Amino acid sequence: MEKKLQGQVAVVTGASSGIGAGVSRSLAAAGAIVIVNHPVAATRDAAEAVLAEITAAGGQGITCQCDVSKENEVVQMFADTVRQFGTVDILINNAGLQRDAPFTDMTLEQWNTVLGVNLTGQFLCAREAIREFLRRGIVPERSKAAGKIICMSSVHEVIPWGGHANYAASKGGIMLMMKSIAQEYAGKKIRINSICPGAIQTPINKQAWDTPEALESLLTLIPYQRIGQPEDIGNAAVWLASDESDYVTGISLFVDGGMTLYPGFSTNG
Ligand code: NAD
Repeated sequence: MEKKLQGQVAVVTGASSGIGAGVSRSLAAAGAIVIVNHPVAATRDAAEAVLAEITAAGGQGITCQCDVSKENEVVQMFADTVRQFGTVDILINNAGLQRDAPFTDMTLEQWNTVLGVNLTGQFLCAREAIREFLRRGIVPERSKAAGKIICMSSVHEVIPWGGHANYAASKGGIMLMMKSIAQEYAGKKIRINSICPGAIQTPINKQAWDTPEALESLLTLIPYQRIGQPEDIGNAAVWLASDESDYVTGISLFVDGGMTLYPGFSTNG
């Protein structure tokens, strides 16, 4: 396989499971050195297992514990990465969670937890990454860009989601944060984009695919008639992080099997 990201240093947040793990494997296969981030001591073994898969396949990386909603931990993760590997080239702002509730039952804690990880966490990591990209500038033999950020958003940055107002608000927030900072730093040759996954088979949405009935119901929302896999997102992330997408910044790339095509209208509404 062509090593489109050879030697580039990539921080992947929330990388001990699901999409983050899949993106980590794809970036490592493309030659990146991957920082496999996980939030707490309890997720260390899962992160080590992802790293073991990467190294078994001939890739490189380390694990790094950091809760992305905590400013001091994020600053430390980037400082440690720069100390160990010299710089950061790619940030995959992936960590996310759900705390679902009917709106009138939603607690402030549920609201703050989701916004704190999904949106504030992406702000904190993007800010540290951009500071490092500006410090280093462009190194032509690494990449045409001074740095690349990929924000993991969701189809729910455009599809409203009753019972999940905190989650949808966090993803809507990611969309305009991403576009605003893409606009602000394009002149510095920093590219910032989002991937908006549809339904990807991971622990976060297990109830939507773990019985035949649930899967059948889910597939009514997906014109392409299959659930997505972390590798589908990994392939898109490699492209967005590579110079093949050098003229692409500020976009939301929907990787959703057509979920945002209003499938309910396919038979005339
Ligand atoms: P997942 O639950 O497998 O992964 C989420 C990861 O985030 C976990 O590894 C978790 O440990 C980590 N995490 C949670 N809080 C953290 C914190 N404070 N600091 C660092 N890491 C933290 O689910 P996933 O489906 O892989 O989700 C990854 C991202 O993709 C999320 O942002 C999610 O919103 C988004 N997404 C998923 C889908 C889907 O269908 N699976 C669809 C659209 C968007």
